[in-house]
Amino acid sequence: MEKEYIGYQPQDFKTEHAPYFNEIILPLASHAQTALANSPFQPGALPPFSAANYLESEGYTDLENGYTKNADGSIHVAVQTYMPNVTPSMWDWWFGWHGCQNNRYKLWHPKAHVSAHWEDGRDDVAYIGRHSIIKEYIGEELLEAVIQFKSPTEFGFSPETINNPEKAVYICARLGHPTLPVDYGYLVHQVRAVTGGSEMRSRFWLGGQYVNVRKTGVLAELASDFLRKVRSLPKNFGPDLLKHCSEEMTHLAAFLPDLYAKFTKNTEGLQIAGNITNQDDPGFDALVMGTLFNKIDPASAPTWSLNPRAFRILLPPLPMPELPAKKLPFVRAVIVLVPTTCATIVC
Ligand SMILES: [Zn+2]
Repeated sequence: MEKEYIGYQPQDFKTEHAPYFNEIILPLASHAQTALANSPFQPGALPPFSAANYLESEGYTDLENGYTKNADGSIHVAVQTYMPNVTPSMWDWWFGWHGCQNNRYKLWHPKAHVSAHWEDGRDDVAYIGRHSIIKEYIGEELLEAVIQFKSPTEFGFSPETINNPEKAVYICARLGHPTLPVDYGYLVHQVRAVTGGSEMRSRFWLGGQYVNVRKTGVLAELASDFLRKVRSLPKNFGPDLLKHCSEEMTHLAAFLPDLYAKFTKNTEGLQIAGNITNQDDPGFDALVMGTLFNKIDPASAPTWSLNPRAFRILLPPLPMPELPAKKLPFVRAVIVLVPTTCATIVC
């Protein structure tokens, strides 16, 4: 286990990404300050998690910045961040890239981020379906959490919406405790393209009705103190989270285009960072039958399918006749190219 501390120490400054470490956090954006002054808003002013796909709609809602405290002890938080020169795909890459090293995670919020590692121990650039174990200060509170990244379709977003990363990406996760069997919330960061860059619309639903105990028995009993705490969250958690989110998204967005350019420019071939659906997963047959595979013999059905949204062709586009099909020995796969920017993969 790496030693844990705030900020960079001499060994961190030896990394390739160290030039992007900036200890200066800008003053909180004025719209976030106004939101804090006007919160909490009436319960119901922000939709519940079950209606999260309202973010797909064009335009804005009445409440884009602020938080609500609800009768069951839960809080809903909304934060908007404008990010010049940033594209939705840059954030998609960031969520896959940063989670394997503390000093990458610290680039995002140098005053509050302590540690991050993937539960699976791998360092590949991917996040959907993986668990990121993090420690960070939200206000004065040291939060330890497992961020369980999910496919946006599991949160109710439509395949049409998520197949268009040039327009918007949706980073979706369940939040839980890293060692106790308790989940206590959800988050969605929608990053959508706007004139001059992108905007992030972050949403959090935490505590109260969003608390779920994964197991019963001794572990659940050990969790009872923690359960009390998350069922009725600390008084400052809503405002502290709003502030933290606004600060970290603004901070990273200032150098994300340069960071992205530096660490993706040598990538060759294909980058797979998507949601893999296996043969045993619910909905697999429907997924496969809705694709090109419905033309093939059932006995030759694939064993898994990759959500095309997260599948990028990084090679320069070639005329279709030159790429009828390409063998990929390392995954024993055949890629069927559909248009120049999207593909379906069968193993
Ligand atoms: Zn953070």
